[in-house]
Parts: sequence; C-alpha cells; structure tokens
Amino acid sequence: MIQNIKYQCPSCNGCQYRFSVFNITAKNPHGANCIFCKAQMMVSYKAFAS
Ligand SMILES: [Zn+2]
Repeated sequence: MIQNIKYQCPSCNGCQYRFSVFNITAKNPHGANCIFCKAQMMVSYKAFAS
C-alpha cells in the first residue's frame, strides 16, 4: 500500500513529497519527488523497523 510507505529525501532529508507519473523509474516506482528540492525520494526502510 502506498499509504504505508514512508519516503525520505536523500538530498535535504525532507519527508514531504508528491507523486508524479513523469518521475516514475525503476528505483522510484511510485514517482515520489521531494516538494522542496525536487529530488527523487528514497523509501525509508526505517519506517518498517518498528
Ligand atoms: Zn529534498
């Protein structure tokens, strides 16, 4: 579920993002991009640890 995935920006460490179909790649299957610096968001696997 997309709603349960947490993303973190590798550039500014922000956690706010939006989805864009234009940014979908193999590493970014949901097309999530940082709203601040437009960097490709990385899935934060720490969110699954707890
Ligand atoms: Zn960012």
